[in-house]
Amino acid sequence: MARYTGPVCRKCRALNEKLMLKGDKCYTPKCPLERKTAQAPRSRFRRRISERGIQLHEKQKVRFSYGLMEKQFRGFFARARKMTGVTGDNFMTLLERRLDNVVYRVGFADSRAQARQIVRHGHIVVNKRKVDIPSYLVEEGDDVQWREASAKTECYKVAIEKAKKANIPAWLSLDQEKMIATVSVLPGRDAIVSNLNSQAIVEYYSR
Ligand code: SF4
Repeated sequence: MARYTGPVCRKCRALNEKLMLKGDKCYTPKCPLERKTAQAPRSRFRRRISERGIQLHEKQKVRFSYGLMEKQFRGFFARARKMTGVTGDNFMTLLERRLDNVVYRVGFADSRAQARQIVRHGHIVVNKRKVDIPSYLVEEGDDVQWREASAKTECYKVAIEKAKKANIPAWLSLDQEKMIATVSVLPGRDAIVSNLNSQAIVEYYSR
């Protein structure tokens, strides 16, 4: 599956928003957006953005945050549309259920990009079976953990420390000793990050 390989900070710059795509660097003054705000005073003149522009901005924000190409993103949206319930909520919860997102959420990785790499390299098992597909959707009760052989790697040792500090969402739980993450319940509306506007995405694709 195609993926973006260019500089990720460019995505934040394009939207002028911190999307936290680079892990630890995002929390330091090295973040280019932090430097930009520190250096340049805000312009008094604000560009007027059309409604379509706002919808596009919101759509790109979610797409960049989850690190998906347009085709994959649209595919998820089409799937959400076929489900019963609110399309925007279904869409966001489908994105949350992606295996790379779960690996990131429980602190096994610094960013979703790193989580994707960890999954692709075959370090992760779901219910004791190796799964190397980042878009794999977890189900309620699934156990996600590192492959036994991967427990010797450097990235596993780093993950142990990261997982201790992770802000784990309520729909997931983590046994820190065994490094086993469990999907306690499928993510619901409350799992949707408040700064992401799923309704704008629905409107964007409805035209
Ligand atoms: Fe975005 Fe993080 Fe790069 Fe800052 S460091 S621009 S938040 S990806």
